[in-house]
Amino acid sequence: MPHPKKKTSKAAKNQRRSHHALKPISLIKCKKCGKSIKPHTVCDGCGFYKGKEYIDMTKKLPKKERIKVKKAKEKEEKKDLKKTNKETSKLNKKEIKTDRKEGAKNVTRGDK
Ligand SMILES: [Zn+2]
Repeated sequence: MPHPKKKTSKAAKNQRRSHHALKPISLIKCKKCGKSIKPHTVCDGCGFYKGKEYIDMTKKLPKKERIKVKKAKEKEEKKDLKKTNKETSKLNKKEIKTDRKEGAKNVTRGDK
């Protein structure tokens, strides 16, 4: 068996081991659900990373709850669609109004 030539002193041993301490893990909070996660990783609570869904967490749920979540999601999507439709219709109406005004001005200018 090979042996060290000299005994390492306590100081040398402690100096060598001064770098062996473990650093605490740096955690961040998920922006979606608030769970503390490692940075640059997909959240294992909601499956989101940078505002995009990468893991479908509903697959892990039992069937009844999965259906509930799906229905809730569909409802939210419908609401969003209605909102966007309303906004676009409002914008269109405004555009039409402004067009009419401009058209009327043009007409009066043309008459003179
Ligand atoms: Zn999350």
